[in-house]
Amino acid sequence: MVDAPQGIEGQGFFATSLGKVIGMARANSLWPLPFATSCCGIEFMATMGSNYDLARFGSERLSFSPRQADLLMVMGTIAKKMGPVLKQVYDQMAEPKWVIAVGACASSGGIFDTYSVLQGIDRIIPVDVYVPGCPPRPEQIIEGVMKIQDLARNESLRRRNSDEYKKMLESYNIETQ
Ligand code: SF4
Repeated sequence: MVDAPQGIEGQGFFATSLGKVIGMARANSLWPLPFATSCCGIEFMATMGSNYDLARFGSERLSFSPRQADLLMVMGTIAKKMGPVLKQVYDQMAEPKWVIAVGACASSGGIFDTYSVLQGIDRIIPVDVYVPGCPPRPEQIIEGVMKIQDLARNESLRRRNSDEYKKMLESYNIETQ
């Protein structure tokens, strides 16, 4: 069960703001796109399994099509050659969209401090939540998803149109939609 957003309640009526209702709907229907390149992806498989069951959060519908996903989960080592592919996937996702860097490799390159590995995906796309660990346990991945839920629930409907957001995308050389 999802709690109703804050509002004014009386006999036979409940009133709240549109933003809160949309935030509630977005937060509880995140569709993840698992961009899994190595071992952290295995932890994600466990997170989707019956024991941890990400479906409890409305996120059981994985999408391998960027256009039908709003949560990009990057799990694993990202080689520099893979960077443009990851950026293209991000570009193809419609707003509003969120990104989690799962594990040390996606967050910072991890143990692979070498010429061929991207030292963190935030060098090419904006990241909302970082999940530490090598690999992080499924509980940590779930906590990362819950942090994204908090962001989605409380995000202003105007944020994606704000100058600040557009400037942030421009700093990554990403065209605004
Ligand atoms: S952070 Fe560790 S477990 Fe995750 S992809 Fe990198 S090396 Fe593998």
